Amino acid sequence: MASHKDPVAVIGLGRFGTALALELARGGTEVLAVDNRPDIVQRLSGQLGQVVIADSTDLDALTEIGIADFSRVVVAIGNDLEASILTTALLSELEIRDIWAKAINRQQATILSRIGAHHVVFPEQDMGERIAHLVAGRLLDWVELDPQWVFAKTKPPKEIVGVPLGDTGLRKKHHVTVVSVKPENTTTYTHADYDTVLTYGAEIVIAGRPDDVERFVDVQ
Ligand code: ADP
Repeated sequence: MASHKDPVAVIGLGRFGTALALELARGGTEVLAVDNRPDIVQRLSGQLGQVVIADSTDLDALTEIGIADFSRVVVAIGNDLEASILTTALLSELEIRDIWAKAINRQQATILSRIGAHHVVFPEQDMGERIAHLVAGRLLDWVELDPQWVFAKTKPPKEIVGVPLGDTGLRKKHHVTVVSVKPENTTTYTHADYDTVLTYGAEIVIAGRPDDVERFVDVQ
C-alpha cells in the first residue's frame, strides 16, 4: 500500500479530476495535475502547485512528466473511453503501485479493472444511487461503505422509541444495528448503548446490509 503522504498524480481535469486534485491539495497532499488541454491547465495553474499539459495516452509524454515516480495515480478521464483505457494500460505497464480510475459505466469499470486499475470508482452512479435513497423516503443520509454494507441516518421508528435499545431485539428482527444517536435538542452524535432510550425527536445512524436498512426505514 502507498503511504497517505505520497504525492498523487491526477490525470484528466474535468469536474471530477479538478475537485479531487483541489481537495487532495487542501488536505496537504502533494499533487501533480495533468490534462492535455492547455486552456484547462491554464485555468487551474493559479490554484494548484503543479499543473502540466501532457497527453496521457503517450508513453513518452508520461515518462517526461515523471509519472513513474508516483506510487498513486488517478485516471480521472471518464467520457473519452479510449483515452481512459490507454492511459490505464500504460500506467499498469509502468507498474504504478496504486492506480485509481474513474468509470462512467459498468463496462468501462470491468475493462479498467482487467487492464490493471487497482480501484475503480463510479462517481456519477454512486452519487445517483445515494441521492435516490434520500429523495425516496425517510433517510437523511446514506453512505455505502461496501456494496453489501451501508450506514444510514434516519429518525427512529415507533417500535424502538421509549425502550432501551438492548431490549428492542432490533438486530435479530431487522438485522440492523443502531450505532450512533443524536438525542433530541442536541447538536452532536454519541455512541448508542444497550441502555440508550430513543425519543421521536432523536436522530440515529444505523448500519446493515442495504436491503435490511431500506426495509427497516420503510417500517416507520
Ligand atoms: P468530468 O465528467 O469529471 O468533467 P471528463 O471525462 O469529461 O470528466 O473530463 C476528462 C478530462 O480529461 C478533460 O479535461 C480532458 O481534457 C482530459 N483528457 C482527456 N483525454 C486526455 C488525455 N489523453 N490526456 C490528458 N488528459 C485528457
